[in-house]
Amino acid sequence: MKNIIIVGGGAGGLELATELGNKLGKSKKANIILVDKNPSHLWKPLLHEIATGALDDNIDDVNYIAQGKRNHFTFRQGALTNIHREAKSIVISEVKDSEGKVIFPERQLSYDILVMAIGSQCNDFGTPGVKDNCIFLDDHIQAKHFRQNILNRLWRFSSGIEMPNAGTIDIAIVGAGATGVELASELFGMTEKLSDYGFDKISPKMLNVTLIEAADRILPALPETLSASIHKKLESYGVKVLTKTMITKADTDGFYPKESDPIKADIMVWSAGVKAPDFLKDIAGLENSRSNQLVVKSSLQTTRDESIFAIGDCASSPKPEGGFTPPTAQAAHQMAKICAHNIMAYLTQSSMKEFIYKDKGTIISLAHTAQGVVTTTGKSTMILKGAPAYMVYRMLYRMHQAALYGICKTGCLIMANRIMRWVRPKLKMD
Ligand SMILES: Cc1cc2nc3c(=O)[nH]c(=O)nc-3n(C[C@H](O)[C@H](O)[C@H](O)COP(=O)(O)OP(=O)(O)OC[C@H]3O[C@@H](n4cnc5c(N)ncnc54)[C@H](O)[C@@H]3O)c2cc1C
Repeated sequence: MKNIIIVGGGAGGLELATELGNKLGKSKKANIILVDKNPSHLWKPLLHEIATGALDDNIDDVNYIAQGKRNHFTFRQGALTNIHREAKSIVISEVKDSEGKVIFPERQLSYDILVMAIGSQCNDFGTPGVKDNCIFLDDHIQAKHFRQNILNRLWRFSSGIEMPNAGTIDIAIVGAGATGVELASELFGMTEKLSDYGFDKISPKMLNVTLIEAADRILPALPETLSASIHKKLESYGVKVLTKTMITKADTDGFYPKESDPIKADIMVWSAGVKAPDFLKDIAGLENSRSNQLVVKSSLQTTRDESIFAIGDCASSPKPEGGFTPPTAQAAHQMAKICAHNIMAYLTQSSMKEFIYKDKGTIISLAHTAQGVVTTTGKSTMILKGAPAYMVYRMLYRMHQAALYGICKTGCLIMANRIMRWVRPKLKMD
C-alpha cells in the first residue's frame, strides 16, 4: 500500500488529510499519515480572537488523533526537519513533555507521495530588535501569551498596583493588513467587555493603540473606498493609524520609524508580511521563492519532484494572469481540494486538474461588526458592511469546519456555539 504523508495539519493540510482518509484510507487504497509539530489544530484566522479573549481556544481546538480515528488517517507528532528525496523519507524531530522528557524520539518516515502544508510565519525582514521585542501572532501559544500579557497589565492597573504612563497602556502594531487591523479593533472590544464585567477602572480609553503601516493606506488589497472607511472606523474606536511609516528598528521601549519620532510602546506586535519557515530554503534541492516557499506547478506538484506536492502558505503558486496565489485560508482551502483530486489522479495515472485561484473577496472583522468585499459571479465585486459582512466572514470558517466534520455536524456545532455564547462568559479572562 502507498504511503501518503501530509506535513502540517493547518487550514489546508487537515482538510486534505480528512478527504484523503475518507477517499483512500477507509478503503485501504493508501496509508494516509498526517504529521504536525503540535497535537491539535486551531484555525489560524481565529488567532486575533484568541489573543483578545473573544474566543476560547479550548472549544474550537481539533485533536489530530481523534480526527484521524474518525476519518481514517494516522497522526504522527513531530516537526519535520529534513527531506531525503533519494530515499523518499522525511525526518521528524523528537517530542518532549513540559518537564523536558522525551515522549517520541526522532523518527524517519517513508513516503510515496509527500505533501508539504506547513504554512508561514511573520516576516520581520531582518529589522533589528523586532525578533527579541515583539509578539508575533503565528500560533495559538503566542496568541495566548499576548492575551495573558495584556490581561495581567489590565489587572495590575485595575487593582491600583501599577499606574501606566499617563493612565494608558501603549500598544503598537506594525502591519495594517487583515491581522493588524482586526487585532487593533478587537482590543477595544476586549476592554469594553471587561468594563461590562464590573472592572470599572478598565475602559477602552485606557488603550493607546497605534497601527503602523509602510504603505500609503491600510489594507492595500481592498478597494480604496473600503480601506478609507475601515480607517475611519478604527479612528472612531480610538486607534491611531500611521501610514507611510517605515520601521527601521525596535527595542524594549518601542519602534523607531525612518522619518519621524520614536513610537513608545508597552506591548509591541509585528504583523507585517509573511514568509515560509527558513529551513525550507534549499531543502532537498527543491525550488524556492524569495520568501522560502516551495515553487509549484499548476498541478500543485513541486517543480523538481513530482512526488512532492505543496499547498497553502508554504507553496508559491503562479497565477495564469501574473502574480501569485495569496497566502490566505481561502487559497489553502481551494488548494486542498485540487491536491486531493491530483493525488488520486497521480495514483491511477489519470489526468490532473489545474489549480486556478478564485478570489471570493476579503472581509475584515472589526470587533462587533465587519466590512469587506465579496466577488460575485464573474469578476464583479460587492461591498458588504455590518451584519451581512460578518455573516460572510464567519462563512469561511464554517466551510473549513464542513470540510472537517461534514455539513450536519457543522450545523450542530453552529447551534452548540450559540448555546455556549449564551451560557459562557463573553470573554476568556484567564
Ligand atoms: C491573525 C490571522 C488572521 C487571518 N485571517 C484570515 C482571514 O480572515 N482570511 C483568510 O483567508 N486568511 C486569513 N489568515 C491567513 C490564514 O490563516 C493562512 O493563510 C492559512 O492558515 C494558511 O493555511 P496553511 O494550511 O498553509 O497553514 P497553517 O494553517 O498555518 O497550518 C500550518 C500547519 O503546519 C504545522 N507546522 C509548521 N511547521 C511544521 C513542521 N516543521 N513540521 C510539522 N508541522 C509543522 C503547524 O503546526 C500548522 O498546524 C489569517 C492569519 C492570521 C495569523
